Amino acid sequence: MTSIVTRFAPSPTGFLHLGHAHSALRGWRAARAAGGRFLLRIEDIDPTRCRPEYRAAIAEDLAWLGLDWDGPVRVQSEHLPDYAATLDRLAARGLLYPCFCTRAEIAREIAASGHAPHLAPMGPDGPVYPGTCRRLPSGVRAARLAAGEPHALRLDMAAALATAGGPPDYEEEGAGRVACDPGRFGDVVLARKDAPASYHLCVTHDDALQGVTLVTRGADLRAATDIHRLLQGLLGWPAPRYAHHPLLLGPDGRRLAKRDGAPALRELRAAGRSPAEVRAMAGLPDGAGP
Ligand code: GLU
Repeated sequence: MTSIVTRFAPSPTGFLHLGHAHSALRGWRAARAAGGRFLLRIEDIDPTRCRPEYRAAIAEDLAWLGLDWDGPVRVQSEHLPDYAATLDRLAARGLLYPCFCTRAEIAREIAASGHAPHLAPMGPDGPVYPGTCRRLPSGVRAARLAAGEPHALRLDMAAALATAGGPPDYEEEGAGRVACDPGRFGDVVLARKDAPASYHLCVTHDDALQGVTLVTRGADLRAATDIHRLLQGLLGWPAPRYAHHPLLLGPDGRRLAKRDGAPALRELRAAGRSPAEVRAMAGLPDGAGP
C-alpha cells in the first residue's frame, strides 16, 4: 500500500495565524497518524505579495507549534524552470493563449456584454474571463507578442475539456466521489503578467512531483480543485485524494484573516500562550485526533 503523503503549502504573504495552524495540524496529524510523510512547501510564486520575512517565519512558527516535516522544504520561487516546462507542454498542445487584457479592459468587456459587474460569473481568481484574446486574429496576436506586449497565459478551457475527455472528478475524504465542473471558470490564468506561473499550475505540478497522496486544505480552495483535477488529467499526473476542511471562524463568525486582525501565532507566543494552548485555540486540542 502506498504510504500517505500530505503537505502544508502556505504563501508567505503574512505571518501564520490560527487558521494556518488549523490547516497545518490537520495535514500533519493525518500523515503522522498513518505513519506517512508530511511536507512543507512555500508557495511564493507571486513576487508582488510574498515577503522574505514571512517566509523565514513559517518554519519557525510551525516548529514552535510542535510540527515537524519530512525532507527539504520546497520553495516554489527556486523552481521556475519546472513551471515553465509545464507551460511549454500545454502550449505545445495548443491549450494556452496569450492574454494582453488589463483588469480594467476585462471589466469593461464584461459590462459591455450586459452583465452588471456584481452579477458577472466569478471564478476562484475573479470574474470569469470573456475570452477576448482567445478570439484575436493570429496576425494581431503575433504582432503584439513580437512587440513585447506584457501578457498572461490562459488555458483554453473548451480545448482543454475536449482534450481531457470531459470534466474530471475526485475523491473527497468521507464524502466519496465529487464531480468537477472546471468549465464554469472559463479560461483561467496559468501564467500571469507579473508572476511566471499561477497558483493552479504550481500547486498541481508540485503535488505530483512530491507524490502528495492527500491534499488537506481549507474549503475556500474547493473550487480551485476542479481546475487542479483538469490540469492533472491533461498532464498525466496522478489524482490525490482531497480533504477540504471547514475554515476556522473568528468570534464574529467570519473566517480568520490577517487583514481582519486574526492573531498571528508569534503574537500568541509573545503573549505567553503555550504551543498546546495554541493547538487547542486552532480547534485541534491534543488527543482530539486528526
Ligand atoms: N498556498 C495556498 C495558500 O496559502 C494554499 C495552497 C494549497 O493548499 O493548495 O492559500
